[in-house]
Amino acid sequence: MSKVNIEKKILSGNDRVAIENRQRFSDAGLLVFNIISSPGSGKTTLLEATLDRLAGETRILVIEGDVSTERDMDRVRAHGADGIQINTGGGCHLSAKMIRDVLGELALEAADIVFIENVGNLICPSTYDLGEDIRMVLLSTAEGDDKPMKYPSIFHEAELAIITKIDLLPYLEFDVEKVGTEIGVLNPECEVLKLSALKGEGMDVWIEWIGKRLEMKRAARPVAGE
Ligand code: MG
Ligand code: ZN
Repeated sequence: MSKVNIEKKILSGNDRVAIENRQRFSDAGLLVFNIISSPGSGKTTLLEATLDRLAGETRILVIEGDVSTERDMDRVRAHGADGIQINTGGGCHLSAKMIRDVLGELALEAADIVFIENVGNLICPSTYDLGEDIRMVLLSTAEGDDKPMKYPSIFHEAELAIITKIDLLPYLEFDVEKVGTEIGVLNPECEVLKLSALKGEGMDVWIEWIGKRLEMKRAARPVAGE
């Protein structure tokens, strides 16, 4: 192989499919989130609370990734979302191909936002591009404030980090400021929000954040016919 070829580095199969997915999402005018966290940090609970806030004004699709069961899909359906459950059958992350394989079953053109809830795992989902606009990571106060430095890859890759379950702060040794500082060291571009999806604190800021990004995405969309 020539030097040029080596430097060019052939895109991985996953990356190639992710580019296709991104184009399809973009053609449909969608804003797409890839939500990553360890199990139990509140991804589905955040989705439920987000659906409650946005229902009626914003059309939302959810793609749920889990090793097994439809439980999370049932939960978000109960809050008004359409979407689809992907069971990985043991796989610890979603891949771009898994997403591509279900896109035909979703009414993409009729939606504004797609939330992809990744398999609960803080490690390898960070290395699989799904074609999303926004890669975000959740860290719950119950998991401990040492996680960013222990799992640097996802914090390095994420555009947004959300500290969840802040209603538990009075009962835990969790230094919010330290976590914010360490995320800033790993990734100065990463924005950090704090909220309690269950109690509502911080939800307004998150909902505004989504609204702002949706506007930016729409403004960037070429006018039909051009
Ligand atoms: Mg879940
Ligand atoms: Zn994996």
